[in-house]
Amino acid sequence: MVKRALIHVDYTNDFVAEDGKLTCGEPGQVIEEQVIAITKQFVASEDFIVFAIDKHEEADRYHPEAELFPPHNIAGSKGRELYGELQALYKQVENKAHVYYMDKTRYSAFAGTDLELKLRERGIEELHIIGVCTDICVLHTAVDAYNKGFKIVIHKDAVASFNQAGHDWALGHFANTLGAKVV
Ligand code: ZN
Repeated sequence: MVKRALIHVDYTNDFVAEDGKLTCGEPGQVIEEQVIAITKQFVASEDFIVFAIDKHEEADRYHPEAELFPPHNIAGSKGRELYGELQALYKQVENKAHVYYMDKTRYSAFAGTDLELKLRERGIEELHIIGVCTDICVLHTAVDAYNKGFKIVIHKDAVASFNQAGHDWALGHFANTLGAKVV
């Protein structure tokens, strides 16, 4: 059996909630049930689960996103907490050995983090990626995963974007260019 991991990308209040600072809005909210269901499957199977969550400092003028987006996912803020039921689910499992919460500061969960080391140590070959935004952080994480030789599975009912055209384009790119299974 191929060892697999679930990579959770940015399913936080700022990216999903109605009043989030950089919200996907409704498309982000309607995937909640599927996000929870997939997470529970990985909790039950005890496969590795990574929460790769954007983290920014207030008024960080050196960050490349500073001129692109309003401040979001500020360290310690409510906006950075996981959205909806996922926060409670995370709290139930956060101390399990197969659950790993990590900060990321760029679109890709691999950029400047120890994610690759954690995956290689465990012999993981297949990454299941869920969260937001399909065409930004999910995309950049998938591109890095592809370049590092991981197999990729994208759960299309558990990714979303504020940009429908970008979302649709990215789903095609995952399958046609990154060789991902889009399920
Ligand atoms: Zn960000």
